[in-house]
Amino acid sequence: MPNDSPQVYLVGAGPGDVGLLTLRAIECLSQADLVIYDKLVPIAFLDYAPSAAARLCVADFPGCHPERWPHVQQAMIVAASEGKRVVRLKGGDPFLFGRGGEEAEALRKAGIDFEVVAGVTASLGAAATAGIPLTHRDYASAVALVTGHEPPGTAESKLDWQALARFPGTLVFYMGMSHLAEIVHALVELGKSPETPSAVVQQATTGNQRTVEAPLASLPESVAAAGLGPPAVIVIGAVVALRKELAWFEKRPLFGRRVLVTRPRHQAAELMRRFERLGAIAFSLPMLEVREPADWTAVDHALKNLALYQWLVFTSVNGVHAFIQRLRALGYDLRALGGLQLAAIGPGTTQCLRTYYLEPDLVPSEYRSENLAAALKQRAQGQRVLLARADRGRDILRQELAESASVDQITVYSQVDLLPANQDALDGLRNGTIEFVTVTSSNIARALGDALDQESKANVKSGRVKLVSISPVTSAVIRELGLPVAAEAAEYTTAGVVQTLIGLAQGE
Ligand code: SAH
Repeated sequence: MPNDSPQVYLVGAGPGDVGLLTLRAIECLSQADLVIYDKLVPIAFLDYAPSAAARLCVADFPGCHPERWPHVQQAMIVAASEGKRVVRLKGGDPFLFGRGGEEAEALRKAGIDFEVVAGVTASLGAAATAGIPLTHRDYASAVALVTGHEPPGTAESKLDWQALARFPGTLVFYMGMSHLAEIVHALVELGKSPETPSAVVQQATTGNQRTVEAPLASLPESVAAAGLGPPAVIVIGAVVALRKELAWFEKRPLFGRRVLVTRPRHQAAELMRRFERLGAIAFSLPMLEVREPADWTAVDHALKNLALYQWLVFTSVNGVHAFIQRLRALGYDLRALGGLQLAAIGPGTTQCLRTYYLEPDLVPSEYRSENLAAALKQRAQGQRVLLARADRGRDILRQELAESASVDQITVYSQVDLLPANQDALDGLRNGTIEFVTVTSSNIARALGDALDQESKANVKSGRVKLVSISPVTSAVIRELGLPVAAEAAEYTTAGVVQTLIGLAQGE
């Protein structure tokens, strides 16, 4: 470890949306040996840390809330003294109501170097996604961020409630949900207008966000009626009224809807992000894992004899990556493909080829094997064709092509069914709170058929859980399993699945 870089990083994780993690937060996580994270930090953020890094949740330390902190500090100090790089990942910003100050003091005292990485604090996240500008030239020229943990009239209250009631701007309370009634009562008693526009924003920036607006005096009642709870911020001030015009996130087409992504882990994140940006709550339950093929012999033989072929055909993104990586591992580079024409089954595969600066010579108008075969049959008549594919899948392309060309098929990657392990996702399927399941290949459909228990299947059959299929081939497999297809993508791509799912969600 170079001695110019600190051992401990106090890192803000933002309010919940992974898009609000900072670049620096991701850099720190990617180099961590140990991550100690707050309970409010979504578990998916830990995927940015190396898989070998140890992960400890603050909730797992002994004792209850206030008793844990000495243990947390001790764990950081011990790990740092052992030369480990420690990331202390905290909700929102580390220096706002997060004990970041106290943790930094303890590190300083122990003589341990640290860095503090700012995060998007909950009030700013909530303001953005609830459509409440915290300042506005006509309504508020100041903001106060206040702890709601020190209710008026109690011994621990260090706040000047009179000053807060007179504060000329927007008030935002953190940790105030259990004292909402007392907070409101004190402010009104001390002269704040009971009509002041107010709101509570729960789980801001995520698909779970819920917002309740009311005049200050009736806010506690409205919040109780709606059943809101922590984590939430209380926003009080004239600016709240702007929300009527400015709310945008809650109008996203999939806002609050629960969507399950079943793609392999390395491909799931991108699709989940797409759903999250549309307002959804996305879950991941990888059905398959992509691995190296059991045997490279046939692949290596083909790679050494590429000059014999006129066409090289890819039917998946995974196939492109695996093929090129093996090519490189054998000591070749892209010049080895110079004499070949390239075919790709669809836009995803094309995009992937482009990341290697390769442009396909042929992409069928409809993205499936039958159409690729038909297009190739004409172009590759009497020529030699190399198909790079998975160890399982449809054989139709080879069969069709074999009529007019000489075809060699090589297995460049293998697909292994996974035992689904995400308990939240499995529970969501069982109790029907997951509304949509994306099924993005026929192999995923098969694995899903094996993975679903009786209750989940009953939910699919009753239409409570809806399967959205990527193509007619995938739909056919789903139906063979005795399950209904709620909708099928018009374009056979993941983008097509997203579009179709939006249509389904909006009742089209
Ligand atoms: N350091 C954090 C605050 C920690 S205190 C930050 O800068 O945001 C915990 C409080 O933060 C909660 O009680 C709640 O008031 C607020 N909070 C955290 N995440 C939130 C979210 N997604 N939506 C609304 N409030 C949130």
